[in-house]
Amino acid sequence: MKIDGGCHCGYITYEATVDAERVGVCHCTDCQTFSGSAFRTGVLASKDRFRLLGGQPKIYVKTAKSGARRAQAFCPECGTHVYAFAADDPQEISIRTGTARQRDQLVPSAQIWCRSAQPWAVNLGPIKKFQEQPPPRS
Ligand SMILES: [Zn+2]
Ligand SMILES: [Zn+2]
Repeated sequence: MKIDGGCHCGYITYEATVDAERVGVCHCTDCQTFSGSAFRTGVLASKDRFRLLGGQPKIYVKTAKSGARRAQAFCPECGTHVYAFAADDPQEISIRTGTARQRDQLVPSAQIWCRSAQPWAVNLGPIKKFQEQPPPRS
């Protein structure tokens, strides 16, 4: 499936052909910190099917306990995390699905690192909902 997207400020733009069957949620604590939220979602593209169209991301390499080095590509202007890849000999690019215009079609099929999942984040159903920003409290 062809997708395209970019960061919030528009500096980074990309296009890719992804495997829409390989969308995952990651509940690891690194993803929680990187996102400032409860989890991240990614979809995989082989490296030759990912193309940066504009901008030059800032790369931050994190080293996991296992020793695996993972390069995180962020927009240097607005901080959006756009994609990640193995720092040594990357074969695949994991694209953050929230940066894709087609994000509504990228539905996760698996969740990983569930042992560190925030319990509320695995079932948002019971939490009170508003269709947009709620009115200010008086
Ligand atoms: Zn940006
Ligand atoms: Zn993670």
